[in-house]
Amino acid sequence: MTDRKSLQTELVHSDYTPPAGFGAFPVAIHHASTVLFKNVAALRSRNWQEKTGYTYGLHGTPTTFTLEARLAEIENGKHCLLAPSGLAAIAMVDFALLKSGDDVLLPDNVYNPNRDIARWLTQDFGVTARFYDPMIGAGIAGLIQPNTRLIWTEAPGSVTMEVPDIPAICKAAAEKSAGGQKVHVALDNTWSAGIAFNAFEHGIDIVMQALTKYQSGGSDVLMGAVITQDKELIQRIALAHMRLGFGVSADDAYLVLRGLPTMKLRFDAHDAGARKVAAWLKARPEIAWVLHPAFDDCPGHENWKRDFSGAGGLFSVIFDARYTEEQTDRFIDSLKLFKIGYSWGGPGSLCVPYRIQSMRKNWTDQGQLLRFNIGLEDPADLIADIEQVFSAL
Ligand SMILES: *Cc1c(COP(=O)(O)O)cnc(C)c1O
Repeated sequence: MTDRKSLQTELVHSDYTPPAGFGAFPVAIHHASTVLFKNVAALRSRNWQEKTGYTYGLHGTPTTFTLEARLAEIENGKHCLLAPSGLAAIAMVDFALLKSGDDVLLPDNVYNPNRDIARWLTQDFGVTARFYDPMIGAGIAGLIQPNTRLIWTEAPGSVTMEVPDIPAICKAAAEKSAGGQKVHVALDNTWSAGIAFNAFEHGIDIVMQALTKYQSGGSDVLMGAVITQDKELIQRIALAHMRLGFGVSADDAYLVLRGLPTMKLRFDAHDAGARKVAAWLKARPEIAWVLHPAFDDCPGHENWKRDFSGAGGLFSVIFDARYTEEQTDRFIDSLKLFKIGYSWGGPGSLCVPYRIQSMRKNWTDQGQLLRFNIGLEDPADLIADIEQVFSAL
């Protein structure tokens, strides 16, 4: 869209043009592996990497091109590529930008499967992966080596919710890049859905999204996306996308498109509900610490306040140290409205335990950690659900 409207309006109105003589809001679902060319000259001249036309189902259809354009618009990016899951999108960035001999930096609180890919790259692909303190800020400059090519960031970090100083990290990388060594900074922006954090404005080169979460909003789709403002960068990533064969289904792309118009309203409702439940938990004697970026005792809260416009439905709590794992497991089992399961961004509230000691280099055990995803239920009912279990503890 040329003249920018508010995000909520943009989410409802897209530039999609339905077939001539037919008008409707939904985007058509185009199924195709083979894409037909009018003649051999058209086949020879079309370049899949330029995305100026359709070449093969793997490289996109009108359905996936529309979703990519809409996601790029939400993030204020220019280019977008879809992947079959959020994790596939992470792998696509790694394989596009890293080769044997290169170095990658990741925050110690990074999404755990991202950490696992980094370890795999180290063990089998000749890349070195090093983990940094997520609160390092400008200090990251001291970790950038001549062979460092990529810095992953995540805001906030998975499970422990520290909010990094993204502008300071990007500034350090940009200073190295200005000296001739290109260091790209990638952000896993899933938590903010691209709604509550404007990544490119803060210096990020590559945004990764797990569309599985808020974009789909239905707990029924796995999909990921990579978004950039840089054409050369997206073409490198597109090469990895093609080589890895990361196609997505047209039906799934449709489900994500269907979620977009309501995404911000849902995100805001998750956010309001989560703050209510988290504030109630904070006042309880059973809970030692609520890890929520909007609370002033969350590490990096001041970064959140400066750079973010919202928070979504996800936060963690640390139980008072007197509660054993057995007790907190029983706590989760006894909840009725909160279901037990991974992921988030869907309508139903979830609660899962994490053994943080096994996921972090530096984490002193302070009590059992549980992560809550606040869904779209009435927060009063969620609080009542937790309260009845607390009284039985
Ligand atoms: C869920 C998630 C992913 C991975 O997404 P999938 O689609 O489940 O592979 C990546 N990063 C973060 C922060 C996530 O929460």
